[in-house]
Amino acid sequence: MKDIKIATFGSHTALQILKGAKDEGFKTIAICEKGKTSPYKIFNVADEIIEISKFSEFEKYEQMLIKKNAIIIPHGSFVSYYNLDKLKKSKIPYYGCKNILKWESDRNLERQWLLKAGIKLPKVFESPDNVDSPVIVKEYGAKGGSGYFLAQNKKDFEEKIKTKKIAKYQIQEFIVGTPVYIHYFYSPLDDKLEIMSMDKRYESNADALGRISFSDQKNMDIATSYTVVGNFPIVVRESLLHEIIRMGENVIKASKEIEFPRGTWGPFCLETILTDKLEFYVFEISARIVAGTNPFINGSSYSYLNYDVPMSTGRRIARDIKKAIELNRLKEIVE
Ligand code: ATP
Repeated sequence: MKDIKIATFGSHTALQILKGAKDEGFKTIAICEKGKTSPYKIFNVADEIIEISKFSEFEKYEQMLIKKNAIIIPHGSFVSYYNLDKLKKSKIPYYGCKNILKWESDRNLERQWLLKAGIKLPKVFESPDNVDSPVIVKEYGAKGGSGYFLAQNKKDFEEKIKTKKIAKYQIQEFIVGTPVYIHYFYSPLDDKLEIMSMDKRYESNADALGRISFSDQKNMDIATSYTVVGNFPIVVRESLLHEIIRMGENVIKASKEIEFPRGTWGPFCLETILTDKLEFYVFEISARIVAGTNPFINGSSYSYLNYDVPMSTGRRIARDIKKAIELNRLKEIVE
């Protein structure tokens, strides 16, 4: 329990994870791919930087980290390189519920979880023949929305799919509204849900199209794409918080049914589209820290209501670990 170090891959949300861990009194380790250490050096958030050839070869370095008494904090880059099979074999102490990754990474299981939580989801069209409204077509395993395309109707879908090399995809109702990504935190130590922050993504080229007049766009043959380049903070109408809290609490409750009995804990995010009728449609859940929390390294309007110090999601994780150590309950949050 003494001298525990906080380690994470140098990417995604590592800056706030490491800074937050230092603020809570931990020593920190950044595991970086060769030649990609500069952010962790110039921002001075890592007590130690370990360079490895590729993240996918992390297994080779596990023993070394175990000897250093490190707990690994997963984030988006970590789970994309280190899949569930590898994770289950891994012996390094891991903050979070490993099994829940199975539910968030499979579009069908993810739907089951969210439906169980009483959450509204975009309709899924099992067959292109049933398409009766604008749709977004999502390639399985697409990163940053890069393999997605929009179709206005069945005919448009059929024309577009011919030109794509997509093996497996889901056809989803396209919800017209504004994206709101809600960042929650749930700690089993006090059985409490927190809203940490919210963001919207800055996406290329979707966010660039308003800068080009329709008459110019017409001649440019642009396909909408959603490559994430950054994130903006959002504060929602206060009257929406009630529903946001209901959704978050239900997701935790449902997680305890699907992964009986403990469910998920730590940070998670509901990726939603909010319509003009003020209805939330959730199109994805991430059961880990998301990059949308990065604008809030010094806290958000919401975290300020709960904490007297700047509380990023990264720091909140470190505080959870610190509290668990004090209460001798680390086994409940580290697998
Ligand atoms: P991840 O969050 O795992 O990185 P991704 O970035 O590949 O996934 P998403 O975030 O799922 O992709 O979606 C990309 C974009 O598509 C987002 O801007 C989102 O708002 C939009 N989008 C996704 N599903 C829908 C939907 N059903 N209706 C309208 N817009 C959608």
